[in-house]
Amino acid sequence: MAHVTGSASHREGAVAERGGGSPASSAVYPGDPRYEDLALRRRNERFVQRPACFRVVRSTDEVVAAVQWAVDSGRPVSVRSGGHSLENSVGEHPDGVIIDMTGMNAIHFDPDRRAVVLESGATLGEVYRTLYLTWGVTVPGGWCHSVCVGGHIQGGGYGSLSRTHGSVVDHLYAVEVVVVDEAGRARAVLATRESGDPHHDLWWAHTGGGGGNFGVVTRYWLRSPGAEGDDPADLLPRPPASLTGASSCGRGRICRRSRSGG
Ligand SMILES: Cc1cc2nc3c(=O)[nH]c(=O)nc-3n(C[C@H](O)[C@H](O)[C@H](O)COP(=O)(O)OP(=O)(O)OC[C@H]3O[C@@H](n4cnc5c(N)ncnc54)[C@H](O)[C@@H]3O)c2cc1C
Repeated sequence: MAHVTGSASHREGAVAERGGGSPASSAVYPGDPRYEDLALRRRNERFVQRPACFRVVRSTDEVVAAVQWAVDSGRPVSVRSGGHSLENSVGEHPDGVIIDMTGMNAIHFDPDRRAVVLESGATLGEVYRTLYLTWGVTVPGGWCHSVCVGGHIQGGGYGSLSRTHGSVVDHLYAVEVVVVDEAGRARAVLATRESGDPHHDLWWAHTGGGGGNFGVVTRYWLRSPGAEGDDPADLLPRPPASLTGASSCGRGRICRRSRSGG
């Protein structure tokens, strides 16, 4: 994400307002056995992600606290979900903070917004299985099951169903993003595709431009445009009855694969 640092005056104001600002128990520093595991969680081993600290978050409130803490400490902050960026887009900042989203991986239906909610740390494999086995629906995302939706959706997200159903962002109803305002205060903002939404531009900013630019995405809400009713089975595309593709067993066979990803 855009690297955010905080001035001294921002620090004082933010700490006073929040009544604290100390790091939560999710902070992992060098020397902690978890640090080496977290440092290895990236697809392209050419790049080294050894920040001053990882923050392993489990809720939107924890993300707000982690971002606020980074701002208050004057540290560069970046975010990682699945670690599948092949470029160095998460970044190498020895004095920085990497917010690790993999503890936020829930998938559920939000009846108020008539949309399926995906937390950023959910993998595509978890998403396909849950959408199909729970409601019989899917999204036209990519093939790699360990990619996380955190980076995937805001990059557009395309796959074998895209000729029929577009990209995943064509079904993006809303996004929750932790941003930092000009006073250095972190907060969560919900941005929807509703034309009257004052945060509509922030929603648009997450429909294909790629991750790490505007804030930390905590959750995505998915509902196809024009979908009617409040039954999740009617709100996203239905997968085809079967899919013919290269076998994932690596033996070069062509096989029919189950729609739940098996
Ligand atoms: C093996 C492989 C197969 C792939 N196949 C496909 C495919 O079929 N279709 C397709 O569309 N793409 C595909 N991709 C690309 C993949 O969708 C992108 O690399 C995606 O950005 C990975 O997301 P991630 O969260 O796993 O990666 P990360 O490396 O964690 O993040 C990628 C970028 O997004 C940012 N980011 C991550 N999470 C957040 C967040 N919560 N908030 C804000 N910024 C965030 C990071 O800072 C970074 O800049 C593939 C990649 C790989 C390695």
